[in-house]
Amino acid sequence: MIQLAVPNLAGNEEKYLSDCVTSTFVSSVGPYVTKFEEMVAAAAGAPYAVATSAGTTALHAALLTVGVKHNDLVICPALTFIASANAISHCGATPWLFDVDRDSWTLDARQVGEQIAKNTEIRAGERIHIPSGRRVSAIVPVFTLGIPADMDAIIQVAKSSGLPVVVDGAAALGATYRAHRSGALGADFTMYSFNGNKTVTAGGGGAVVCCSKDLMQAFRHLTTTARVGTDYDHDVVGYNYRMTNLQAAVGCAQMEQLDAFVAAKRRIAATYQEAFQDISGAKAFPNPSWGESAAWFSGFYFDSPDGGARGARLRQALRERHIDARPFWKPMHLQAPYKNAPRAALPVSEYLWDKIVTLPCSTNLTSDDQAYVVDEVRAWSRAHVLCSAPS
Ligand SMILES: *Cc1c(COP(=O)(O)O)cnc(C)c1O
Repeated sequence: MIQLAVPNLAGNEEKYLSDCVTSTFVSSVGPYVTKFEEMVAAAAGAPYAVATSAGTTALHAALLTVGVKHNDLVICPALTFIASANAISHCGATPWLFDVDRDSWTLDARQVGEQIAKNTEIRAGERIHIPSGRRVSAIVPVFTLGIPADMDAIIQVAKSSGLPVVVDGAAALGATYRAHRSGALGADFTMYSFNGNKTVTAGGGGAVVCCSKDLMQAFRHLTTTARVGTDYDHDVVGYNYRMTNLQAAVGCAQMEQLDAFVAAKRRIAATYQEAFQDISGAKAFPNPSWGESAAWFSGFYFDSPDGGARGARLRQALRERHIDARPFWKPMHLQAPYKNAPRAALPVSEYLWDKIVTLPCSTNLTSDDQAYVVDEVRAWSRAHVLCSAPS
């Protein structure tokens, strides 16, 4: 089977791990954690980074740090991985679901602005969702597939409505927006994941970056059991959410290869795009004018009313030919825990999600393997009269 996205561990991973064992620094303190935080901050273009046990825990703690409380609503796109919504739930809050825009598959800033104007008001200094009476306390844009959201528009909405912004940039390390790096776009926090299927992995793990020293320190405190000093004094209910030196050792070795990995991801995406452009109805993943995607996943979608059925048939046919082809995220309002979450109209999320076909895109995918995937997709498309053989 040619896998969808597997870790590429050809660098210093083994050497750094063995350093950890030799030095006995295997836990949540150690030189690799500090080094990893420095590397992530630099790659994200932000002054501060704090490493965590996962992207989900990073997002949870970041939301608490910006003041999300029990019973609040937090604005997020319906088309996301469930971890974004779960981190909101872990605060005792509920996601308020919005659509994505067609050009970037990221949070539709115009819809958010319109809904805030229409359905919220300020009461006693707080932004209240009028239909439910609940406080609205943050905006969580998601950088879908490594594509940056239109952050200038989102920050403008956030500023005018007094809401903090926590970006779920899980797979977006390496992306740029108007020539700025993904962690320097005006958000209070930007989260990255280093889970095994991300471009750069630490086995598991996450991080936030931010531009405020106070926010960074508050986040570090909360994720380190809210310990004050070096004795057993704790000032609030904290979390044990820090990354271990073992994870960071792998993470450092991976970060050394970030530029090469992102270049490989973009090359793979460009090869598929070129190879499938004459397939009827097949459209490339978005490429908004405002930035450059980190191209976490590659593939295409069938932009036609029967695209969902087509996508399912193609994915099945490819799996029979030992190619791991998968669908993409099922929107949150179609997931059992979020079926009753408040939501705006979601036509783009509903149209897109089942039409997407993701294809093998590991950074160490060989050109022979990619050529085989291309041939099989084209052969299936020819058999379904969606394209002809090259002349
Ligand atoms: C991977 C991912 C996460 C979760 O990160 P973990 O490190 O697995 O907790 C959250 N959001 C998005 C968009 C992701 O792709």
